[in-house]
This record gives sequence, structure tokens and C-alpha cells, in this order.
Amino acid sequence: MPKIAIPTALRRYANEQAAVTVEGTTIKEALASMTAQFPDLQKHLFDGEGKLRSFVNVYVNDEDIRYQQQDDTPISDNDDISIIPSIAGGSGAESRAADALPDLSKDEIARYARHLIMPEVGMEGQRKLKAASILLIGTGGLGSPLGLYLAAAGIGRLGLVDFDVVDKSNLQRQIIHGTKDVGRPKIQSAKDRIGDVNPHVQIDSYELALRSENALDIVKEYDVIIDGTDNFQTRYLANDASVLLGKPNVYGSIFRFDGQASVFHPAAGGPCYRCLYPEPPPPGLVPSCAEGGVLGILPGIIGVIQATEAVKLILGEGEPLIGRLLLFDALKMKFKELKLRKNPDCPLCGTNPTIKELIDYDQFCGITPPAPEVKTEAAADSWEITPTQLKARLDKGDKITIVDVREINEWHISNLEDYGSTLIPLGEFQARHSELNPDDEIVVHCKMGGRSAKAYGILKNAGFTKIQNLKGGILAWADEVDNSMAKY
Ligand SMILES: [Zn+2]
Repeated sequence: MPKIAIPTALRRYANEQAAVTVEGTTIKEALASMTAQFPDLQKHLFDGEGKLRSFVNVYVNDEDIRYQQQDDTPISDNDDISIIPSIAGGSGAESRAADALPDLSKDEIARYARHLIMPEVGMEGQRKLKAASILLIGTGGLGSPLGLYLAAAGIGRLGLVDFDVVDKSNLQRQIIHGTKDVGRPKIQSAKDRIGDVNPHVQIDSYELALRSENALDIVKEYDVIIDGTDNFQTRYLANDASVLLGKPNVYGSIFRFDGQASVFHPAAGGPCYRCLYPEPPPPGLVPSCAEGGVLGILPGIIGVIQATEAVKLILGEGEPLIGRLLLFDALKMKFKELKLRKNPDCPLCGTNPTIKELIDYDQFCGITPPAPEVKTEAAADSWEITPTQLKARLDKGDKITIVDVREINEWHISNLEDYGSTLIPLGEFQARHSELNPDDEIVVHCKMGGRSAKAYGILKNAGFTKIQNLKGGILAWADEVDNSMAKY
């Protein structure tokens, strides 16, 4: 019988299985058979009208069903069916005439000796790398190996965009930063490290968030754009700015043990990110790496693939990942490749594009302030409780039910079990909130307050009235109440 591979992000709705055996002779029947076994998958895959959501792609072997017979695409027992949801989580750059390429100094010749003796690079290729400029959006998990390897390879100019500060929890994967850099701006730390790896590289620092107002001015200065972002707003922004300016966009994304990589380059006839995923998933439906975690080594693997693609584009050598989506499963240690087609109806790179300038990406991705609507300041105060206030009430002996909506692995790092806390992960909250008593006073919490605000909304919709959200989550509790508690 046919099997459908379940991506990591959706396995929690399929009893943690990596593949589900289904019945049927078409995709429609196979998906129906799957959701009959795991009803929780229904709302993640289909909209209210039963239509497959646009951020979920289904492949039979390496073909997208959108370019086959959609739902009616026939399947047989030996077919390999995959569900590929978008995950959050980075040919031919401008060719320059050989005489316009910069020369290499004696020191550079010694440094790049192993490149210079390769027929695919040689003196001309190394001079192309020196002439090239690459924009790295993000200096985090993907940006770390990208920055280090591209600098070492001799890219002449690297633009770095980041506004974050190095946190201890970054060091598990962001190898461009060190323990001594905790608390420093990432861009400073990355610049110092790259300067040590290769002082010949010119570094342009942009200590800012890439936004619609500044993206085109920054992107236009570079030959190749590399997307090392971890949120959908910046991902669509990087894609749109690259397409509008005709630049190749080297894409990578990571989640737990799964990675994706591709090269989006409509100017060279390939598809863009919007051809693959016309719309982002609604906020909260796809967990971020901060919520779901990521194997520390995975961004190393995907980032190095992106760096390889960027160097190939600049050299004009080999076959780029244009029109191909590379999927990597670290648990199985398997690579898989899917064909990506340019969508003629793509609003950005299709035949009749409707997007001709950058848009409001927060709005496009449905990002709104997490707090529920509040009319007055008193009401604003009452939906949240600070850790200090909660501790004072618990110390007084008030009976309060504390509900932790994080994942079990986060619970193992720190929890409020001493105060009788109950764990109901947000993904199970809709199904399990009936375990709670609406007569009790309830405080919901997560790591920082975002997920618990969603749990608050679910309880409110279910008619609960005596609920509060722990402001700042368990991290704020560690800061305000219990300094001995581990932070992550
Ligand atoms: Zn497109």
C-alpha cells in the first residue's frame, strides 16, 4: 500500500510517525485515508473548505501534484508521497570581463593555492571570487558557516545584516560567535571572526532589521543574496527584493533534523520562493526553531550547501540548485531532490505579476501584537500577571492552577512543578483544555509569553473567565523570582 512521508513539523499530529500507510488510488483518496487515521492533521493541511492549504505542497516521487493532476493525481503502491510544508528557521552572478577582474596579491596567491590549482577555479575563478559581493541576511545558525567559509574562500566583499545580540543559547550552533562574545552585537562578533579568518575580505555591516523601507537599497549592492533568516517576514522580503532586482537568492531553512536548500533565480529562468509557497502559514501553526529546537550541526550542513551554491554561481561552474529543492533528513542521513517549477501564476515572477514593489511583510505574514484586545489600562493589566505578583499570591496560599504550554523537553530544563504546574503543550491545548476546571483561577505560561497568549485565547473562546497569562514567561520568572533557575 502507498505510504505518505510525514515531515517532522507535523509528526506530533500523526502519533510521531515518520510515514503513514494509506489506501487509495489518487492523492485525494490517500490524503483522506491519512486524515481518517489522524484527524488532527486535517486542519493543518486543509482550509475550511477542504482545499489543500497553499503553504503545503504534495509530491508524488519528485513531482509536485500542482503540475500533475492536482488531487486527482493517480498513485500506485510503489510511489513515494511526501508532504512538504514551508518551514521558517538562508545561474550566473553578474559576469565580468576577465580584464575587469582584480589581480591577486602575492599573499592572496599563497592563501588560495588549493583553489588556484583546480581547473574549475584557477586564477580567473579566484579573481571572480575576489570581484564578487554576497549579502548574508542573518549571522546566526546558517550565517555562521556561510560567513566563515565564504570569507575563507576569498569572496571580496561580504554584507552582513543582523541586529541581534549573542546569547548563550546561540552557541550550540552559531559557531561564528564564541563564549567571550555573549552579550555583544552579533554583527561585531561576526566581523571580528571573519577578519581573523581572512583579512582580505571587505565587510559591510548593517546592524538593522531588513525591512521594506531599506531592503532594495541594500540588496542592490550585491551580486548574490543568501537567505539565512529564521522568520517568514524576512524570508518573503528577501525573496521579493531579490526577484525585483534580478538577483539570485540562495535559500536554506532548518528545523530539528530537517533541512531544505534551493536557489531562487527567476532572472535565469528558475522559480522563486513564492512559486514554491505562495503564502506563509498562519502565525503559530509552524513552530520556530526557538520553540521546536534545531540540531546544532544541521545549520552547518545546510549553510555549507548554501555557501557551495553561492561560489558555484560566481564561478559559473556546475549545475546550480535552480529549479530543484534539496531536502535533507539528518536522522536518516538522506538527501532527496524535488523538481521545482516556475509558477506562471506567481504574483511576483509569473507572466502577469501583481507584486511590483515591496509590501508590508508583517501584515502579509499575519503578525499582530500577541496581546488580546484591551480597552483600558486596568483591563490591560488584568490579562497578565507578572512573576513577582504570581509568587506573592502563591506565598499567600492562594489556590492558582498553573498551566505550562511548552514542550516536554523545555519542561525538563525548567518548570514550576513545585507550585503544582501542569504541562499541556500548545499543540494539544485545543484538544485537552477540557482537563481544566473553569471555576479555578488559571495562570498559563510558556517560555516568553507568546505561546501562552495563544492558550489564553483558546481558554477565553471556550468560556473560561478566570485566566491570566504569565508576563514574560518562565524566563521572566527566572529573572524576577528564582535566579537559580536554568535559562535557555
Ligand atoms: Zn515566483
